[in-house]
Amino acid sequence: MSSTLSHIPRLDCGVLVLGAGLAGMRAAWAAKQAAPRQRVLLVSPRAVPSGSSFANRNNALGVQAPPAHEAEAFVAEALALAPPGEADPELVRALAADAPTRVAELADIGVGFRVDSAGAPLRFPGCFSPARRALVFDGLARAHAAFSAKLRDLGVETLCGFEALDLPRDHGGRVLGARLCALRGRADGGARLDVRAGAVIAALGGPAPLFARRMCGPGGSGLGLGLLASTGARLVNARFVQFFWLREGDRAFVNPGDLDWSDASCSAGFTALADIAALADSRRGHCPVAFGLPDAKLDLALLARRGPDGVVRGPGAPAMALYAHAGNGGAKIDTHGRTTIPGLFACGECAGGMHGANRLGGAMALACLVFGARAGATAADEAAADEARNLPTPAPLPFAPPPLAGPGRDVESAPFLRRLRRGMDKCAAPGGSPSPAFTAWLRDAAGKRGESPVESLDESSGESPAALRRRLLARSALAVLEE
Ligand SMILES: Cc1cc2nc3c(=O)[nH]c(=O)nc-3n(C[C@H](O)[C@H](O)[C@H](O)COP(=O)(O)OP(=O)(O)OC[C@H]3O[C@@H](n4cnc5c(N)ncnc54)[C@H](O)[C@@H]3O)c2cc1C
Repeated sequence: MSSTLSHIPRLDCGVLVLGAGLAGMRAAWAAKQAAPRQRVLLVSPRAVPSGSSFANRNNALGVQAPPAHEAEAFVAEALALAPPGEADPELVRALAADAPTRVAELADIGVGFRVDSAGAPLRFPGCFSPARRALVFDGLARAHAAFSAKLRDLGVETLCGFEALDLPRDHGGRVLGARLCALRGRADGGARLDVRAGAVIAALGGPAPLFARRMCGPGGSGLGLGLLASTGARLVNARFVQFFWLREGDRAFVNPGDLDWSDASCSAGFTALADIAALADSRRGHCPVAFGLPDAKLDLALLARRGPDGVVRGPGAPAMALYAHAGNGGAKIDTHGRTTIPGLFACGECAGGMHGANRLGGAMALACLVFGARAGATAADEAAADEARNLPTPAPLPFAPPPLAGPGRDVESAPFLRRLRRGMDKCAAPGGSPSPAFTAWLRDAAGKRGESPVESLDESSGESPAALRRRLLARSALAVLEE
């Protein structure tokens, strides 16, 4: 480890997992199961269930669960939905191959799926497909408790109250671990901790927190893409962020396919009402705005009527606006969850290549489970090569854990983040137009750091948590705008 990091307390572990959503928890589980002697650390900014996995507004998750005889149909549908993004057929096949096992394991740890009156699992169609392949579980806090119990039983250590703000690399470009900063405690961000790891798994969630209008679960940072990009990891499909229409006021879902398109002013731009009926029928088959599909024409027609406040108002539609929901891209991974950077894995919403521009509803939860498990197992194997970090009796934390309540860094209302979110709504949401001034502001904020592994390692000391955070957020935003 570079001497520039030596003044900060340090911990060693085999596998370090960043982020405690579905992907991170499944990855930590797999890593510890694959190598029980290794220290596996799971970093979670919050102690309570958070993120889109365990705190989303539906209090439920649908999981694509194609049985073996439907695997091919699932793969064909997922690949057909990919353009104008790119999906790697091998990754999509991995989803189908592992689905039955990953889903069965959930039931084993007590995550119960919806069943009919006879106790048989209920299967639902997911967005973009009429096929009834998705299973649904309710009660996200309960699911979080089931995962937490599993991790405790296995001996995974959870480090709450920290966020990762840097991934230092050695001179060969290998990620060495992560620099963590406490979110609460001292006014300057409190305790810092450098964790050196045999392998790091990024499970940092998606880019929806970069937008002012967003509907992701609380506790997401939006800086995952930036953190990954800062290591030089290749990103894919980062610009394909899913957006939903929500009614202003009560934030109820609105599907443009259900609107009344008979008013002439609504149907302007369409050749015939029959066209609209066909598009509306297709649009009713999915909640998010589609990329590259004919029914996106309906969304564009609505967006043409958007006011300066971003709100679309009648006729034929309630006052409504687009809200960022989840990203379909991230760090390009291989079938084992490896990114293009040695020592660095990714899974969940910050990983990419298993979906294209659009994805089947329920395929993200499946991807979290499948690539979480694959990344965890492979990361444990890689880390096992380094005996020094396989501690039979792990060293304790070098300081008291940071407080989990009370005042902390006010990361949510910082003026920088407000400006960034407003700009992303204007420039990166569907129907938005790029602004050279906004992009230049982001480039300036992102700085030039991190382009070279050597520079990144040497220069990462001395920057305050707030400055690191700003840089990573700007970088994430640029990834969405420019990737
Ligand atoms: C309302 C809603 C409903 C949805 N329904 C479905 C569905 O039915 N089916 C489906 O497939 N998908 C669904 N999605 C999408 C899906 O829930 C998410 O894409 C998925 O759960 C993401 O899981 P994740 O583990 O990658 O990220 P998250 O669950 O968002 O977790 C990310 C974790 O990373 C932590 N983190 C962030 N930054 C840092 C940092 N710097 N250092 C350390 N930790 C960090 C966060 O605190 C959090 O713990 C839905 C999304 C929403 C918003």
